[in-house]
Amino acid sequence: MNAPIVVPALVLSSSAFLLACSIVLTERILRRKQKPDDLIDLINEQLPQTQCAQCGYPGCLPYAKAVAQGENISLCKPGGATTQSALSLLLNRPIEHAYQSDPHPPIARIREADCIGCGLCAAACPVDAIVGAVNYLHSILEVHCTGCELCLPPCPVDCIELIELTNVSGSSTDAVRQTLVR
Ligand code: SF4
Ligand code: SF4
Ligand code: SF4
Repeated sequence: MNAPIVVPALVLSSSAFLLACSIVLTERILRRKQKPDDLIDLINEQLPQTQCAQCGYPGCLPYAKAVAQGENISLCKPGGATTQSALSLLLNRPIEHAYQSDPHPPIARIREADCIGCGLCAAACPVDAIVGAVNYLHSILEVHCTGCELCLPPCPVDCIELIELTNVSGSSTDAVRQTLVR
């Protein structure tokens, strides 16, 4: 190969190499910028996102913000011990107390005879556990219900009640939940 051809070829390949490097670098910088390295985002990622307000905050993000400022990491009932452990690891904070939540939380149930089909309960449910057409009986998909009680206040005829699964047919909670899943 003679020199007049080799030199431009080398220049060209070096330029291509530099261009490729700068593309990769730019992509990495952009990807790094998009990473949820903000502490609140990282905390929020550990939460179940059911927006049920059982933690005492109006949703998961507000609770994540509070945790970032030192709030107790054991307040998320749907997340339970799993979420608390994840937060403990993430924040290098001790488990604040033995997890106290009811391992078999109650679920909501609609008294069918009284339901007027207004749909207000379905609109209030953060996990879409309530189904039904307007003006018709609504039902709760009990396997999805977290027992958050958010559907109770909106019901104009007060026909939603919380029931203990352990009281259903005398079976254990887990067995009933398994039955509901099937
Ligand atoms: S209790 Fe848990 S799932 Fe419910 S809003 Fe609070 S952080 Fe979210
Ligand atoms: S208690 Fe009511 S609002 Fe809460 S998850 Fe169950 S059905 Fe939905
Ligand atoms: S809010 Fe009450 S009356 Fe209305 S659909 Fe739900 S259970 Fe029925």
